[in-house]
Amino acid sequence: MANFLDFIFPKKCVSCKKLGSYLCENCFAYLSFDANSLCLVCDKPSYNGLTHPICRKKYTIDGCFSALSYNKTAQKLIYNFKYKPYLTDLKTVLADLFYESLIQNENFNKELEKGEWAFVPIPLFASKFRKRGYNQAEILAKELSKNFNSKTMNILKRTRDTKTQVGLSNIDRKLNIKDAFELNSSFIINHLSLKNANIFLVDDVVTTGATLLEAAKILKKAGAKRVIGLTLARD
Ligand SMILES: [Zn+2]
Ligand SMILES: [Zn+2]
Repeated sequence: MANFLDFIFPKKCVSCKKLGSYLCENCFAYLSFDANSLCLVCDKPSYNGLTHPICRKKYTIDGCFSALSYNKTAQKLIYNFKYKPYLTDLKTVLADLFYESLIQNENFNKELEKGEWAFVPIPLFASKFRKRGYNQAEILAKELSKNFNSKTMNILKRTRDTKTQVGLSNIDRKLNIKDAFELNSSFIINHLSLKNANIFLVDDVVTTGATLLEAAKILKKAGAKRVIGLTLARD
């Protein structure tokens, strides 16, 4: 079966188009782990990946770790992962890189040691999900939770279809995403609580952080103790 699929969709390097795999060895060598953390609120460097104490309010996300430096190769990988359904095969490559980067990050490990964590993906709007057939953030969250022996919780829902954040100014991004999330109704019906939960909020790419900040706010209002964003890359 695998051979048949390879025949229909020959495996080509997403970056240089060389046949054989979705990411050839050459291009793989261009990937590197992201070493520069920023505070999601002020967009300025944060040596430990956490939100600056001065930037925090009651429901602010606690920090964010990104796995890959967002160079051309990483960009192409993530783009293909997002828009070409048959490349869901890429999930293994991307999830492995995601995991490796995190466990090599001392600051991430400090968070991990704080207790039990659950992985929550940033959701797509229902119609977008149906069209694409999968949510790339959910795939990543599931792969990570397997690696960390933890669970994935689909507790967030998009209340409306937001415009793409690409090309919007910082202020417009905030307005565009404002109140775009709520808790899943099944979560509320079953009276589940996030009280004292530690949550890793997973997305593929973080740009201004507006999406993660907004989603984290909902989780914190629902009682979550700590919310840390995890993204494959930061634009
Ligand atoms: Zn290549
Ligand atoms: Zn800050």
